[in-house]
Amino acid sequence: MTEKKEEEIIEKKSLNFIESAVENDLKEGKNHGKIQTRFPPEPNGYLHIGHAKAICLDFGLAQKYGGICNLRFDDTNPVKEDVEYVDSIMEDIQWLGFQWEKVYYASDYFQQLWDFAVELIKKDKAYVDEQSAEEIAKQKGTPTQAGVESPYRNRPVEESLALFQKMNSGEIEEGAMVLRAKIDMANPNMHFRDPIIYRVIKHPHHRTGDTWKAYPMYDFAHGQSDYFEGVTHSLCTLEFEVHRPLYDYLVDELTQIPSLAKDPGYRPRQIEFNRLNLTYSVMSKRKLLTLVKEGLVNGWDDPRMPTISGFRRRGYSPESIHKFIDKIGYTKYEALNDISLLEAAVRDDLNKRATRISAVLDPVKLIITNYPEGKVEEMEAINNPEDETAGSHFIEFSRELWMERDDFMENAPKKFFRMTPGQEVRLKNAYIVKCTGCKKDENGVVTEVYCEYDPNTKSGMSDSGRKVKGTLHWLSCAHCVPAEVRLYDRLFKVENPAAEQDKDFRELLNPDSLKVLTNCYVEKYAVGMKPFSYLQFQRIGYFNIDRDSTPENLIFNRTVGLKDNWGKISNK
Ligand code: ATP
Ligand code: MG
Repeated sequence: MTEKKEEEIIEKKSLNFIESAVENDLKEGKNHGKIQTRFPPEPNGYLHIGHAKAICLDFGLAQKYGGICNLRFDDTNPVKEDVEYVDSIMEDIQWLGFQWEKVYYASDYFQQLWDFAVELIKKDKAYVDEQSAEEIAKQKGTPTQAGVESPYRNRPVEESLALFQKMNSGEIEEGAMVLRAKIDMANPNMHFRDPIIYRVIKHPHHRTGDTWKAYPMYDFAHGQSDYFEGVTHSLCTLEFEVHRPLYDYLVDELTQIPSLAKDPGYRPRQIEFNRLNLTYSVMSKRKLLTLVKEGLVNGWDDPRMPTISGFRRRGYSPESIHKFIDKIGYTKYEALNDISLLEAAVRDDLNKRATRISAVLDPVKLIITNYPEGKVEEMEAINNPEDETAGSHFIEFSRELWMERDDFMENAPKKFFRMTPGQEVRLKNAYIVKCTGCKKDENGVVTEVYCEYDPNTKSGMSDSGRKVKGTLHWLSCAHCVPAEVRLYDRLFKVENPAAEQDKDFRELLNPDSLKVLTNCYVEKYAVGMKPFSYLQFQRIGYFNIDRDSTPENLIFNRTVGLKDNWGKISNK
Protein backbone atom coordinates (compact mmCIF):
# COMPACT_ATOMS: atom_id res chain seq x y z
CA MET A 1 0.00 0.00 0.00
CA THR A 2 1.30 3.46 -0.80
CA GLU A 3 1.89 5.87 2.02
CA LYS A 4 -0.76 8.21 0.68
CA LYS A 5 -3.45 5.51 0.70
CA GLU A 6 -2.54 4.51 4.22
CA GLU A 7 -2.85 8.10 5.34
CA GLU A 8 -6.24 8.32 3.72
CA ILE A 9 -7.42 5.25 5.59
CA ILE A 10 -6.17 6.58 8.92
CA GLU A 11 -7.92 9.84 8.16
CA LYS A 12 -11.18 7.99 7.36
CA LYS A 13 -11.02 5.89 10.48
CA SER A 14 -10.81 8.92 12.70
CA LEU A 15 -14.00 10.44 11.31
CA ASN A 16 -16.99 10.13 13.58
CA PHE A 17 -20.30 9.02 12.07
CA ILE A 18 -21.51 12.61 11.72
CA GLU A 19 -18.39 13.70 9.86
CA SER A 20 -18.80 10.71 7.56
CA ALA A 21 -22.40 11.71 6.87
CA VAL A 22 -21.33 15.28 6.14
CA GLU A 23 -18.58 14.11 3.80
CA ASN A 24 -21.08 11.93 1.99
CA ASP A 25 -23.47 14.83 1.56
CA LEU A 26 -20.63 16.95 0.22
CA LYS A 27 -19.62 14.21 -2.19
CA GLU A 28 -23.20 13.98 -3.45
CA GLY A 29 -23.24 17.73 -3.93
CA LYS A 30 -26.14 18.29 -1.56
CA ASN A 31 -27.01 21.90 -0.69
CA HIS A 32 -24.60 23.08 -3.38
CA GLY A 33 -21.67 22.00 -1.20
CA LYS A 34 -22.64 24.35 1.62
CA ILE A 35 -22.26 23.44 5.31
CA GLN A 36 -24.18 25.35 7.92
CA THR A 37 -24.84 24.34 11.52
CA ARG A 38 -26.35 26.06 14.55
CA PHE A 39 -26.11 25.78 18.30
CA PRO A 40 -29.69 26.16 19.59
CA PRO A 41 -29.82 26.67 23.37
CA GLU A 42 -32.99 27.50 25.17
CA PRO A 43 -32.15 30.58 27.30
CA ASN A 44 -33.64 29.02 30.43
CA GLY A 45 -30.43 28.32 32.34
CA TYR A 46 -26.65 28.39 32.16
CA LEU A 47 -24.80 26.08 29.82
CA HIS A 48 -23.40 22.84 31.23
CA ILE A 49 -20.70 20.45 30.10
CA GLY A 50 -23.30 18.54 28.04
CA HIS A 51 -23.88 21.68 26.01
CA ALA A 52 -20.11 21.94 25.53
CA LYS A 53 -20.29 18.61 23.73
CA ALA A 54 -22.93 19.96 21.35
CA ILE A 55 -21.02 23.25 20.94
CA CYS A 56 -17.77 21.48 20.03
CA LEU A 57 -19.66 19.50 17.40
CA ASP A 58 -21.73 22.32 15.91
CA PHE A 59 -18.88 24.83 15.73
CA GLY A 60 -16.15 22.24 15.17
CA LEU A 61 -17.90 20.71 12.18
CA ALA A 62 -18.47 24.08 10.52
CA GLN A 63 -14.79 24.94 11.06
CA LYS A 64 -13.58 21.63 9.70
CA TYR A 65 -15.63 21.81 6.52
CA GLY A 66 -15.33 25.52 5.84
CA GLY A 67 -18.94 26.24 6.77
CA ILE A 68 -20.58 28.54 9.27
CA CYS A 69 -22.22 28.02 12.62
CA ASN A 70 -24.82 30.39 14.02
CA LEU A 71 -26.06 30.81 17.53
CA ARG A 72 -29.82 30.49 17.76
CA PHE A 73 -31.73 31.06 20.95
CA ASP A 74 -34.65 28.70 21.08
CA ASP A 75 -36.83 31.18 22.93
CA THR A 76 -40.32 29.82 22.35
CA ASN A 77 -41.33 29.58 26.01
CA PRO A 78 -41.40 33.08 27.54
CA VAL A 79 -42.11 31.81 31.04
CA LYS A 80 -38.72 30.23 31.62
CA GLU A 81 -36.48 32.53 29.63
CA ASP A 82 -34.34 35.44 30.66
CA VAL A 83 -31.75 37.87 29.29
CA GLU A 84 -29.32 36.85 32.05
CA TYR A 85 -29.20 33.43 30.43
CA VAL A 86 -28.69 34.85 26.94
CA ASP A 87 -25.64 36.80 28.14
CA SER A 88 -24.13 33.90 30.05
CA ILE A 89 -24.57 31.56 27.07
CA MET A 90 -22.66 33.93 24.79
CA GLU A 91 -19.87 34.36 27.32
CA ASP A 92 -19.50 30.61 27.79
CA ILE A 93 -19.38 29.79 24.07
CA GLN A 94 -16.65 32.38 23.55
CA TRP A 95 -14.73 31.14 26.55
CA LEU A 96 -14.76 27.70 24.94
CA GLY A 97 -13.02 29.35 22.00
CA PHE A 98 -15.82 29.57 19.45
CA GLN A 99 -17.36 32.47 17.60
CA TRP A 100 -20.75 32.32 15.90
CA GLU A 101 -21.36 33.88 12.51
CA LYS A 102 -24.71 35.41 13.48
CA VAL A 103 -27.07 35.43 16.43
CA TYR A 104 -30.65 34.43 15.73
CA TYR A 105 -33.68 33.98 17.92
CA ALA A 106 -36.50 31.56 17.20
CA SER A 107 -38.72 34.50 18.20
CA ASP A 108 -37.48 36.29 15.06
CA TYR A 109 -39.56 33.75 13.14
CA PHE A 110 -42.79 34.10 15.12
CA GLN A 111 -44.46 35.88 12.19
CA GLN A 112 -43.31 33.34 9.59
CA LEU A 113 -44.29 30.46 11.87
CA TRP A 114 -47.69 32.04 12.38
CA ASP A 115 -48.13 32.43 8.62
CA PHE A 116 -47.12 28.81 8.13
CA ALA A 117 -49.64 27.66 10.75
CA VAL A 118 -52.38 29.69 9.05
CA GLU A 119 -51.50 28.05 5.71
CA LEU A 120 -51.74 24.60 7.32
CA ILE A 121 -55.18 25.44 8.73
CA LYS A 122 -56.30 26.65 5.31
CA LYS A 123 -55.15 23.35 3.81
CA ASP A 124 -57.12 21.54 6.54
CA LYS A 125 -53.83 20.23 7.92
CA ALA A 126 -54.26 21.87 11.31
CA TYR A 127 -57.17 22.58 13.64
CA VAL A 128 -57.96 24.27 16.92
CA ASP A 129 -58.72 21.76 19.66
CA GLU A 130 -60.69 22.92 22.68
CA GLN A 131 -59.93 19.93 24.85
CA SER A 132 -57.66 20.10 27.85
CA ALA A 133 -54.09 18.80 27.72
CA GLU A 134 -55.15 15.81 29.86
CA GLU A 135 -57.98 14.86 27.52
CA ILE A 136 -55.68 15.11 24.53
CA ALA A 137 -53.07 12.97 26.27
CA LYS A 138 -55.67 10.34 27.09
CA GLN A 139 -56.65 10.05 23.41
CA LYS A 140 -53.06 9.56 22.23
CA GLY A 141 -53.26 5.75 22.42
CA THR A 142 -50.14 3.62 22.76
CA PRO A 143 -47.45 2.71 20.22
CA THR A 144 -49.43 -0.46 19.44
CA GLN A 145 -52.91 0.99 19.75
CA ALA A 146 -54.30 3.78 17.62
CA GLY A 147 -55.33 7.01 19.26
CA VAL A 148 -58.83 8.51 19.38
CA GLU A 149 -59.67 11.42 17.13
CA SER A 150 -60.58 14.69 18.80
CA PRO A 151 -64.22 15.79 18.45
CA TYR A 152 -62.83 19.07 17.05
CA ARG A 153 -60.67 17.39 14.42
CA ASN A 154 -63.04 17.97 11.57
CA ARG A 155 -64.34 21.40 12.46
CA PRO A 156 -64.63 23.87 9.53
CA VAL A 157 -61.44 25.59 8.44
CA GLU A 158 -62.98 29.05 9.04
CA GLU A 159 -63.75 28.16 12.63
CA SER A 160 -60.16 27.12 13.29
CA LEU A 161 -58.85 30.24 11.57
CA ALA A 162 -61.02 32.48 13.73
CA LEU A 163 -60.17 30.66 16.94
CA PHE A 164 -56.47 30.69 16.14
CA GLN A 165 -56.68 34.49 15.87
CA LYS A 166 -58.40 34.58 19.25
CA MET A 167 -55.72 32.37 20.77
CA ASN A 168 -53.30 35.14 19.93
CA SER A 169 -55.39 38.15 20.82
CA GLY A 170 -55.68 37.40 24.52
CA GLU A 171 -59.33 36.34 24.42
CA ILE A 172 -58.53 32.72 25.12
CA GLU A 173 -57.25 31.52 28.49
CA GLU A 174 -54.09 29.46 28.78
CA GLY A 175 -54.87 25.77 28.35
CA ALA A 176 -58.36 26.37 26.94
CA MET A 177 -57.33 25.73 23.32
CA VAL A 178 -54.37 24.51 21.30
CA LEU A 179 -53.59 24.27 17.62
CA ARG A 180 -52.84 20.73 16.45
CA ALA A 181 -51.41 19.48 13.19
CA LYS A 182 -53.89 17.12 11.53
CA ILE A 183 -51.74 14.16 10.55
CA ASP A 184 -52.62 10.60 11.61
CA MET A 185 -54.01 9.42 14.95
CA ALA A 186 -53.09 5.81 14.11
CA ASN A 187 -49.47 6.40 13.11
CA PRO A 188 -47.03 4.07 14.91
CA ASN A 189 -44.88 7.15 15.56
CA MET A 190 -46.68 8.87 18.42
CA HIS A 191 -45.33 12.25 17.33
CA PHE A 192 -47.55 12.05 14.25
CA ARG A 193 -50.74 11.69 16.25
CA ASP A 194 -51.94 15.23 15.71
CA PRO A 195 -49.14 16.93 17.64
CA ILE A 196 -49.86 20.20 19.43
CA ILE A 197 -48.09 22.95 17.49
CA TYR A 198 -49.30 26.12 19.23
CA ARG A 199 -50.40 26.93 22.78
CA VAL A 200 -51.51 30.07 24.63
CA ILE A 201 -49.05 31.62 27.08
CA LYS A 202 -49.95 34.94 28.69
CA HIS A 203 -46.54 35.98 29.85
CA PRO A 204 -44.44 38.74 28.34
CA HIS A 205 -41.63 37.48 26.14
CA HIS A 206 -38.10 38.73 26.84
CA ARG A 207 -37.81 39.99 23.25
CA THR A 208 -41.26 40.32 21.72
CA GLY A 209 -43.03 41.62 24.82
CA ASP A 210 -46.83 41.34 24.57
CA THR A 211 -47.05 40.98 20.79
CA TRP A 212 -47.81 37.27 20.95
CA LYS A 213 -50.08 35.20 23.11
CA ALA A 214 -49.91 32.05 20.97
CA TYR A 215 -46.50 30.41 20.97
CA PRO A 216 -45.19 27.59 18.75
CA MET A 217 -44.12 24.30 20.31
CA TYR A 218 -40.52 23.11 19.96
CA ASP A 219 -41.38 20.73 17.10
CA PHE A 220 -43.09 23.48 15.17
CA ALA A 221 -40.24 25.94 15.66
CA HIS A 222 -37.01 24.02 15.43
CA GLY A 223 -36.99 22.51 11.97
CA GLN A 224 -38.62 25.58 10.49
CA SER A 225 -36.03 27.87 12.06
CA ASP A 226 -33.34 25.60 10.59
CA TYR A 227 -35.02 25.95 7.22
CA PHE A 228 -35.44 29.75 7.36
CA GLU A 229 -31.74 30.14 8.24
CA GLY A 230 -30.40 27.68 5.72
CA VAL A 231 -29.02 25.15 8.23
CA THR A 232 -27.79 22.08 6.35
CA HIS A 233 -26.98 19.80 9.29
CA SER A 234 -29.12 20.09 12.39
CA LEU A 235 -27.28 18.17 15.08
CA CYS A 236 -29.10 17.23 18.23
CA THR A 237 -29.20 14.62 20.94
CA LEU A 238 -30.65 11.12 20.60
CA GLU A 239 -33.97 11.80 22.28
CA PHE A 240 -34.93 13.77 19.15
CA GLU A 241 -34.49 10.77 16.88
CA VAL A 242 -38.21 9.95 17.23
CA HIS A 243 -39.04 13.55 16.33
CA ARG A 244 -37.13 13.38 13.06
CA PRO A 245 -40.04 12.12 10.89
CA LEU A 246 -42.12 15.05 12.11
CA TYR A 247 -39.19 17.40 11.48
CA ASP A 248 -39.06 16.11 7.88
CA TYR A 249 -42.84 16.22 7.47
CA LEU A 250 -43.06 19.86 8.52
CA VAL A 251 -40.11 20.88 6.34
CA ASP A 252 -41.87 19.13 3.44
CA GLU A 253 -45.02 21.11 4.14
CA LEU A 254 -43.02 24.30 4.33
CA THR A 255 -41.48 23.71 0.93
CA GLN A 256 -45.04 23.54 -0.47
CA ILE A 257 -45.84 27.10 0.55
CA PRO A 258 -44.58 29.47 -2.15
CA SER A 259 -44.24 32.51 0.13
CA LEU A 260 -42.04 30.60 2.58
CA ALA A 261 -40.27 28.03 0.39
CA LYS A 262 -36.59 28.31 -0.49
CA ASP A 263 -34.37 26.99 -3.27
CA PRO A 264 -35.51 23.39 -4.00
CA GLY A 265 -31.84 22.25 -3.97
CA TYR A 266 -31.70 23.00 -0.26
CA ARG A 267 -32.84 20.74 2.55
CA PRO A 268 -31.86 20.62 6.25
CA ARG A 269 -31.00 17.26 7.72
CA GLN A 270 -31.27 16.28 11.38
CA ILE A 271 -28.63 13.93 12.82
CA GLU A 272 -28.68 12.71 16.41
CA PHE A 273 -25.79 11.84 18.74
CA ASN A 274 -25.50 10.64 22.32
CA ARG A 275 -25.75 13.00 25.27
CA LEU A 276 -22.95 13.64 27.67
CA ASN A 277 -23.82 12.41 31.16
CA LEU A 278 -21.34 12.78 33.97
CA THR A 279 -21.00 10.56 37.03
CA TYR A 280 -21.70 12.19 40.44
CA SER A 281 -23.53 14.95 38.62
CA VAL A 282 -26.86 15.93 37.06
CA MET A 283 -27.31 17.55 33.63
CA SER A 284 -30.93 18.56 33.75
CA LYS A 285 -31.35 22.33 33.70
CA ARG A 286 -34.44 21.98 35.84
CA LYS A 287 -32.44 20.27 38.57
CA LEU A 288 -29.52 22.67 38.27
CA LEU A 289 -31.94 25.57 38.57
CA THR A 290 -33.40 24.01 41.73
CA LEU A 291 -29.92 23.80 43.27
CA VAL A 292 -29.37 27.49 42.53
CA LYS A 293 -32.83 28.70 43.60
CA GLU A 294 -32.83 26.77 46.86
CA GLY A 295 -29.33 27.93 47.74
CA LEU A 296 -27.96 24.39 47.78
CA VAL A 297 -25.01 25.76 45.79
CA ASN A 298 -23.67 29.30 45.55
CA GLY A 299 -25.06 30.25 42.16
CA TRP A 300 -24.78 28.88 38.63
CA ASP A 301 -21.02 29.33 38.68
CA ASP A 302 -20.47 27.53 41.95
CA PRO A 303 -17.29 25.53 41.30
CA ARG A 304 -19.12 22.30 42.15
CA MET A 305 -21.67 22.83 39.38
CA PRO A 306 -21.25 20.98 36.05
CA THR A 307 -21.85 24.29 34.28
CA ILE A 308 -19.28 25.86 31.98
CA SER A 309 -19.17 28.89 34.28
CA GLY A 310 -18.71 26.61 37.31
CA PHE A 311 -15.83 24.79 35.69
CA ARG A 312 -14.31 28.09 34.61
CA ARG A 313 -14.51 29.45 38.14
CA ARG A 314 -13.07 26.24 39.50
CA GLY A 315 -10.00 26.53 37.28
CA TYR A 316 -10.70 24.13 34.41
CA SER A 317 -9.21 25.39 31.15
CA PRO A 318 -11.27 25.39 27.94
CA GLU A 319 -8.59 23.17 26.41
CA SER A 320 -9.12 20.51 29.05
CA ILE A 321 -12.85 20.44 28.29
CA HIS A 322 -12.06 20.05 24.58
CA LYS A 323 -9.70 17.18 25.36
CA PHE A 324 -12.31 15.38 27.41
CA ILE A 325 -14.98 15.80 24.74
CA ASP A 326 -12.60 14.53 22.06
CA LYS A 327 -11.90 11.52 24.17
CA ILE A 328 -15.50 10.49 24.79
CA GLY A 329 -16.46 11.10 21.15
CA TYR A 330 -19.84 11.04 19.41
CA THR A 331 -21.84 7.84 19.02
CA LYS A 332 -25.40 6.55 18.76
CA TYR A 333 -25.33 4.94 22.24
CA GLU A 334 -26.21 6.60 25.52
CA ALA A 335 -23.48 6.35 28.11
CA LEU A 336 -22.52 7.59 31.55
CA ASN A 337 -19.17 9.36 31.30
CA ASP A 338 -16.76 8.95 34.18
CA ILE A 339 -15.93 12.28 35.81
CA SER A 340 -12.40 11.02 36.49
CA LEU A 341 -11.82 11.09 32.71
CA LEU A 342 -12.63 14.80 32.76
CA GLU A 343 -10.41 15.32 35.79
CA ALA A 344 -7.56 13.46 34.08
CA ALA A 345 -7.89 15.77 31.07
CA VAL A 346 -7.80 18.77 33.42
CA ARG A 347 -4.66 17.52 35.19
CA ASP A 348 -3.00 16.76 31.91
CA ASP A 349 -3.67 20.23 30.56
CA LEU A 350 -2.94 22.18 33.75
CA ASN A 351 0.35 20.35 34.17
CA LYS A 352 1.56 22.32 31.15
CA ARG A 353 -0.18 25.54 32.08
CA ALA A 354 -0.14 26.03 35.85
CA THR A 355 2.36 28.21 37.70
CA ARG A 356 3.90 26.34 40.62
CA ILE A 357 3.79 28.14 43.93
CA SER A 358 3.88 27.06 47.55
CA ALA A 359 0.95 27.13 49.92
CA VAL A 360 0.50 25.66 53.37
CA LEU A 361 -3.10 24.71 54.06
CA ASP A 362 -2.83 23.39 57.61
CA PRO A 363 0.15 25.22 59.06
CA VAL A 364 2.42 24.36 61.95
CA LYS A 365 5.59 26.36 62.71
CA LEU A 366 9.00 24.94 61.82
CA ILE A 367 12.01 26.60 63.48
CA ILE A 368 15.51 26.07 62.10
CA THR A 369 17.38 26.47 65.36
CA ASN A 370 20.83 26.90 63.82
CA TYR A 371 19.76 29.39 61.13
CA PRO A 372 20.74 33.00 62.01
CA GLU A 373 17.92 35.13 63.32
CA GLY A 374 17.07 37.99 61.00
CA LYS A 375 18.73 36.40 57.98
CA VAL A 376 16.65 36.14 54.78
CA GLU A 377 17.67 34.33 51.60
CA GLU A 378 15.97 34.49 48.21
CA MET A 379 15.50 31.00 46.82
CA GLU A 380 14.81 30.49 43.15
CA ALA A 381 11.61 28.59 42.31
CA ILE A 382 10.92 27.34 38.80
CA ASN A 383 7.48 28.46 37.60
CA ASN A 384 6.73 25.40 35.52
CA PRO A 385 9.14 22.51 34.92
CA GLU A 386 7.02 21.54 31.86
CA ASP A 387 7.45 24.94 30.24
CA GLU A 388 10.87 26.55 30.01
CA THR A 389 9.42 29.84 28.83
CA ALA A 390 7.49 30.22 32.08
CA GLY A 391 10.67 31.34 33.90
CA SER A 392 11.11 31.43 37.65
CA HIS A 393 10.54 33.61 40.70
CA PHE A 394 12.08 34.03 44.13
CA ILE A 395 10.75 32.90 47.47
CA GLU A 396 12.13 34.14 50.80
CA PHE A 397 13.65 31.69 53.24
CA SER A 398 14.22 32.44 56.93
CA ARG A 399 14.52 30.87 60.36
CA GLU A 400 10.80 30.48 61.00
CA LEU A 401 8.72 28.69 58.44
CA TRP A 402 5.24 27.27 58.03
CA MET A 403 5.00 23.61 57.13
CA GLU A 404 2.00 21.28 56.73
CA ARG A 405 0.89 19.75 60.01
CA ASP A 406 0.63 16.29 58.50
CA ASP A 407 4.20 16.48 57.19
CA PHE A 408 5.33 15.95 60.81
CA MET A 409 4.97 12.87 62.97
CA GLU A 410 6.61 12.42 66.32
CA ASN A 411 6.58 8.64 66.22
CA ALA A 412 6.56 7.83 62.55
CA PRO A 413 6.41 4.44 60.86
CA LYS A 414 9.42 3.37 58.78
CA LYS A 415 8.15 4.60 55.46
CA PHE A 416 7.28 8.10 56.63
CA PHE A 417 9.82 10.06 54.59
CA ARG A 418 8.81 13.43 55.94
CA MET A 419 9.61 15.32 59.15
CA THR A 420 10.23 13.11 62.21
CA PRO A 421 12.93 13.39 64.87
CA GLY A 422 16.34 12.16 63.71
CA GLN A 423 15.43 12.11 59.99
CA GLU A 424 16.70 14.34 57.18
CA VAL A 425 14.44 15.90 54.53
CA ARG A 426 14.97 18.52 51.89
CA LEU A 427 13.08 21.79 52.08
CA LYS A 428 12.18 22.42 48.44
CA ASN A 429 14.43 24.93 46.66
CA ALA A 430 16.40 25.35 49.93
CA TYR A 431 18.38 23.15 52.33
CA ILE A 432 18.48 19.69 53.77
CA VAL A 433 17.35 19.84 57.39
CA LYS A 434 17.37 17.29 60.21
CA CYS A 435 14.42 17.22 62.57
CA THR A 436 15.38 17.55 66.23
CA GLY A 437 12.03 17.47 68.00
CA CYS A 438 8.86 19.40 68.70
CA LYS A 439 6.89 21.32 71.31
CA LYS A 440 3.33 20.41 72.31
CA ASP A 441 0.58 22.15 74.21
CA GLU A 442 -1.24 20.72 77.24
CA ASN A 443 -3.51 18.69 74.96
CA GLY A 444 -0.59 17.07 73.19
CA VAL A 445 -1.10 19.10 70.01
CA VAL A 446 2.18 19.94 68.26
CA THR A 447 2.74 23.71 68.26
CA GLU A 448 6.31 23.91 66.93
CA VAL A 449 8.67 21.61 65.10
CA TYR A 450 12.44 22.02 65.37
CA CYS A 451 15.22 21.21 62.96
CA GLU A 452 18.81 22.09 62.04
CA TYR A 453 19.95 22.89 58.55
CA ASP A 454 23.16 21.98 56.74
CA PRO A 455 24.47 25.16 55.04
CA ASN A 456 26.31 23.04 52.45
CA THR A 457 23.17 21.58 50.96
CA LYS A 458 21.55 24.61 49.39
CA SER A 459 19.65 23.69 46.20
CA GLY A 460 21.75 24.25 43.14
CA MET A 461 25.07 24.01 45.06
CA SER A 462 27.58 21.63 43.53
CA ASP A 463 27.86 19.53 46.69
CA SER A 464 24.17 19.54 47.38
CA GLY A 465 23.73 16.11 45.88
CA ARG A 466 23.18 14.27 49.18
CA LYS A 467 20.18 12.00 48.79
CA VAL A 468 17.20 12.31 51.08
CA LYS A 469 13.90 10.62 50.44
CA GLY A 470 11.46 13.41 51.21
CA THR A 471 11.07 16.95 49.88
CA LEU A 472 8.70 19.27 51.72
CA HIS A 473 7.23 22.63 50.80
CA TRP A 474 7.31 25.53 53.25
CA LEU A 475 6.71 29.26 53.55
CA SER A 476 8.65 31.87 55.47
CA CYS A 477 6.33 33.11 58.26
CA ALA A 478 7.42 36.70 57.88
CA HIS A 479 7.12 36.72 54.10
CA CYS A 480 3.93 34.89 53.18
CA VAL A 481 0.30 36.03 53.13
CA PRO A 482 -2.85 34.57 54.66
CA ALA A 483 -5.45 33.07 52.36
CA GLU A 484 -8.78 31.29 52.25
CA VAL A 485 -8.75 28.01 50.37
CA ARG A 486 -11.90 26.25 49.20
CA LEU A 487 -11.71 22.51 48.71
CA TYR A 488 -14.36 20.96 46.51
CA ASP A 489 -15.49 17.41 46.23
CA ARG A 490 -18.11 15.73 44.08
CA LEU A 491 -21.49 17.38 44.26
CA PHE A 492 -23.38 14.09 44.62
CA LYS A 493 -22.53 11.09 46.72
CA VAL A 494 -23.92 8.54 44.26
CA GLU A 495 -22.53 7.72 40.85
CA ASN A 496 -25.69 8.25 38.87
CA PRO A 497 -28.17 10.50 40.69
CA ALA A 498 -30.56 10.50 37.72
CA ALA A 499 -31.01 6.73 38.05
CA GLU A 500 -32.30 6.95 41.64
CA GLN A 501 -35.80 7.90 40.66
CA ASP A 502 -37.41 6.87 43.92
CA LYS A 503 -35.39 9.51 45.77
CA ASP A 504 -35.45 13.28 45.68
CA PHE A 505 -32.19 14.24 44.00
CA ARG A 506 -31.50 16.75 46.76
CA GLU A 507 -31.13 13.92 49.24
CA LEU A 508 -28.28 12.55 47.15
CA LEU A 509 -26.08 15.63 47.50
CA ASN A 510 -22.67 15.07 49.04
CA PRO A 511 -22.77 16.97 52.37
CA ASP A 512 -18.96 17.34 52.27
CA SER A 513 -18.69 18.78 48.78
CA LEU A 514 -17.30 22.08 50.08
CA LYS A 515 -14.71 22.59 52.80
CA VAL A 516 -13.49 26.11 53.49
CA LEU A 517 -10.04 26.50 55.06
CA THR A 518 -9.46 29.98 56.46
CA ASN A 519 -6.11 29.53 58.13
CA CYS A 520 -3.87 29.00 55.11
CA TYR A 521 -0.79 30.76 53.80
CA VAL A 522 0.51 31.30 50.27
CA GLU A 523 3.56 32.87 48.70
CA LYS A 524 3.49 36.60 48.18
CA TYR A 525 4.01 35.89 44.49
CA ALA A 526 0.30 35.00 44.23
CA VAL A 527 -0.80 38.46 45.35
CA GLY A 528 -0.05 40.02 41.98
CA MET A 529 -1.90 37.38 39.97
CA LYS A 530 -5.28 37.90 38.36
CA PRO A 531 -8.43 36.00 39.26
CA PHE A 532 -8.78 32.74 37.27
CA SER A 533 -4.96 32.27 37.04
CA TYR A 534 -4.01 28.60 36.85
CA LEU A 535 -1.81 27.45 39.72
CA GLN A 536 -0.31 24.35 41.19
CA PHE A 537 0.26 24.37 44.93
CA GLN A 538 3.40 22.25 45.21
CA ARG A 539 2.63 18.71 46.42
CA ILE A 540 -1.05 19.51 46.96
CA GLY A 541 -2.92 19.98 43.73
CA TYR A 542 -4.13 22.40 41.07
CA PHE A 543 -5.79 25.57 42.29
CA ASN A 544 -6.94 28.83 40.86
CA ILE A 545 -7.68 32.29 42.13
CA ASP A 546 -11.36 32.82 42.75
CA ARG A 547 -13.18 35.61 40.97
CA ASP A 548 -13.95 37.22 44.35
CA SER A 549 -10.33 37.19 45.45
CA THR A 550 -8.60 40.54 46.14
CA PRO A 551 -4.97 41.23 47.09
CA GLU A 552 -6.18 41.98 50.64
CA ASN A 553 -8.38 38.92 50.86
CA LEU A 554 -7.01 36.08 48.78
CA ILE A 555 -9.33 33.20 47.90
CA PHE A 556 -8.28 30.04 46.09
CA ASN A 557 -10.31 27.16 44.69
CA ARG A 558 -9.03 23.64 44.46
CA THR A 559 -9.45 22.68 40.83
CA VAL A 560 -8.38 19.05 41.13
CA GLY A 561 -5.91 17.05 43.20
CA LEU A 562 -2.55 15.99 41.79
CA LYS A 563 -3.62 12.37 41.65
CA ASP A 564 -6.94 10.63 41.38
CA ASN A 565 -7.37 9.43 44.95
CA TRP A 566 -11.10 9.81 45.21
CA GLY A 567 -11.68 6.07 44.87
CA LYS A 568 -9.47 5.41 47.88
CA ILE A 569 -11.06 8.09 49.99
CA SER A 570 -14.61 7.02 49.22
CA ASN A 571 -13.84 3.42 50.22
CA LYS A 572 -12.60 4.41 53.66
P1 ATP B 1 -33.20 20.87 29.37
O1 ATP B 1 -34.02 19.89 28.62
O2 ATP B 1 -32.46 20.31 30.56
O3 ATP B 1 -33.83 22.20 29.60
P2 ATP B 1 -31.72 20.86 26.95
O4 ATP B 1 -30.77 19.76 27.10
O5 ATP B 1 -32.89 20.65 26.10
O6 ATP B 1 -32.04 21.29 28.41
P3 ATP B 1 -31.06 23.08 25.28
O7 ATP B 1 -30.70 24.44 25.72
O8 ATP B 1 -32.32 22.89 24.55
O9 ATP B 1 -31.00 22.19 26.59
O10 ATP B 1 -29.86 22.44 24.49
C1 ATP B 1 -29.16 23.07 23.45
C2 ATP B 1 -28.42 22.03 22.67
O11 ATP B 1 -27.52 21.33 23.49
C3 ATP B 1 -29.34 21.02 22.05
O12 ATP B 1 -28.95 20.78 20.73
C4 ATP B 1 -29.15 19.80 22.91
O13 ATP B 1 -29.39 18.63 22.17
C5 ATP B 1 -27.71 19.94 23.36
N1 ATP B 1 -27.50 19.29 24.63
C6 ATP B 1 -28.17 19.51 25.78
N2 ATP B 1 -27.76 18.68 26.75
C7 ATP B 1 -26.79 17.91 26.22
C8 ATP B 1 -25.98 16.85 26.73
N3 ATP B 1 -26.09 16.43 27.98
N4 ATP B 1 -25.09 16.29 25.88
C9 ATP B 1 -24.96 16.72 24.62
N5 ATP B 1 -25.70 17.70 24.08
C10 ATP B 1 -26.61 18.29 24.87
MG1 MG C 1 -34.29 21.68 24.98
